[in-house]
Amino acid sequence: MDKCTRGFYEESVHIRDSKLLAARNGYESLICSLKPSGKSDAKVAVIGGGPAGMAAAYFLGRQGAKVTIFEKRALLGGIVRYVIPGFRIGDFGIDRDVELVKAMGAEIKVNTPAPSVKELKSQGYTHVIFATGAWAHGHLKLESGESMNVLDFLEQYKCETLGDVGEHVIVVGGGNTAMDAARAAKRIKGVVSSTIVYRRNKRYMPADEEELQLAEDDGVAFRELLTPVRLENGRLICRVCKLGAPDASGRPASVETDEMIALPCSLLISAIGEKVEAKDFTDNGISLTDRGGVVANAKTLETSEPNVFVIGDANRGPATVVEAIADARKVADAIVGPYTVTVPEDSKACEGNCLLKQGSLAVYDSAGKETERCLACSTVCECCVQVCPNRANIAITVREGAMQQILHVDRMCNECGNCTAFCPYDSSPYKEKYTLFSTEKEFDESENQGFFVLGGGKVKLRLDGVSTVRLGANEMDPQIEQFINAVIWDYSYLL
Ligand SMILES: Cc1cc2nc3c(=O)[nH]c(=O)nc-3n(C[C@H](O)[C@H](O)[C@H](O)COP(=O)(O)OP(=O)(O)OC[C@H]3O[C@@H](n4cnc5c(N)ncnc54)[C@H](O)[C@@H]3O)c2cc1C
Ligand code: SF4
Ligand code: SF4
Repeated sequence: MDKCTRGFYEESVHIRDSKLLAARNGYESLICSLKPSGKSDAKVAVIGGGPAGMAAAYFLGRQGAKVTIFEKRALLGGIVRYVIPGFRIGDFGIDRDVELVKAMGAEIKVNTPAPSVKELKSQGYTHVIFATGAWAHGHLKLESGESMNVLDFLEQYKCETLGDVGEHVIVVGGGNTAMDAARAAKRIKGVVSSTIVYRRNKRYMPADEEELQLAEDDGVAFRELLTPVRLENGRLICRVCKLGAPDASGRPASVETDEMIALPCSLLISAIGEKVEAKDFTDNGISLTDRGGVVANAKTLETSEPNVFVIGDANRGPATVVEAIADARKVADAIVGPYTVTVPEDSKACEGNCLLKQGSLAVYDSAGKETERCLACSTVCECCVQVCPNRANIAITVREGAMQQILHVDRMCNECGNCTAFCPYDSSPYKEKYTLFSTEKEFDESENQGFFVLGGGKVKLRLDGVSTVRLGANEMDPQIEQFINAVIWDYSYLL
């Protein structure tokens, strides 16, 4: 599921704000109640105490595994602690996350670079997880002059050890990290201009729109369609580019012209993308791809070495905190099995309430009221019914069933694809919903699972294969039979 259904009405549920509010308000009561549940014989070494490593320690500890985090720096938190500027996130939230990890019983070894995988295994660790991030510097090629790496710049900015940067700071790159660096530079005393230089135009910058806007609001200047060539005498000489045909990324390629320009530059920061530290892996006999990524099983994130896993930025290259946490969950599932929670009956969304909300507009009021706007799609989703212009998807009430089921009516569908575009589950309802056919020819020409009513108490049915079955003779799955009976008895106008 990759889009919020509420967004089809007026705007998506502000889920991030709601979660933040819940985390802030519920922390004190939650932390006291947390304790590991479940039992496991796994003894896991987590290398790296950034968001990925912390999340892995939390998930595994919660399910009873014995976990040790090896962190080479003095504190847990990784990039978020050491690099993301304080005006974006304070230490308070990170410290609270560390408390959550401790509550799950993890042993934390700071100032401790991890020993080799071989050594860890000899110490009795059954599993090893690499959560080492992506700290290897991307290299900005210049004919002359030197740039400063963006992680170094931001780290020194954060711990206030940065020397004099002069008046004109230029950041090369168009991602979120570049925006943070330019915004940080803007806050340094004595800096007159902070400029982003990018080889395409703003429209094709990889930065989130929100981050770009924040940089603009802070007064960061943008110089589009420029490629840095050399630094000389306090000036950055750039070649002017233009947009060309789309390249492998799908964006227009940046094509160099003969025109050159010079920009005043006292400090040049390179924010052109960090990489995974290959040596961490090759030293341990772990295979890398041709492009320097770690070879890992997509389902379990196990590397080429048995019981050795890779998560977070170390797995994906520079990514996001939420993706680091998703990786940690995946590996925890692989090591200790899925985590299940029983939702109390009185906390479950009720189908009737969900249906009442559908079709009604509700504008955003505040983060604390977002549950009222949430349509609880995981309880009942009828998007494909609502968006079909031909009414070819129908919510059917099955007499014996607790919830309505969706029937697709083949003859009413012109395959416009609308239901696919709107489906929050990345499905194609007109191909995947159980289908009613009006003629045997239509049935034979389709690949959809579904049925054609032959008459005489018989239906032609396609599930895994095609068969002719009698109703009321125990010749098919009872739930399918109840569904077919509901259509015949209560929705005969569709036949
Ligand atoms: C400037 C900037 C802004 C960002 N803003 C956002 C944002 O707004 N939202 C968002 O979701 N993401 C953001 N990100 C990305 C996010 O910070 C990363 O995706 C996330 O931190 C990845 O977590 P990780 O644990 O995989 O790696 P890291 O955070 O890099 O942590 C890796 C840890 O491993 C440790 N380590 C490495 N090698 C060893 C070793 N051999 N032994 C022991 N310890 C080791 C490191 O010291 C580090 O603590 C931003 C990134 C940057 C650079
Ligand atoms: S369950 Fe709520 S938050 Fe999730 S997609 Fe549906 S409306 Fe959006
Ligand atoms: S593809 Fe068919 S079922 Fe889907 S919206 Fe279009 S007409 Fe309706």
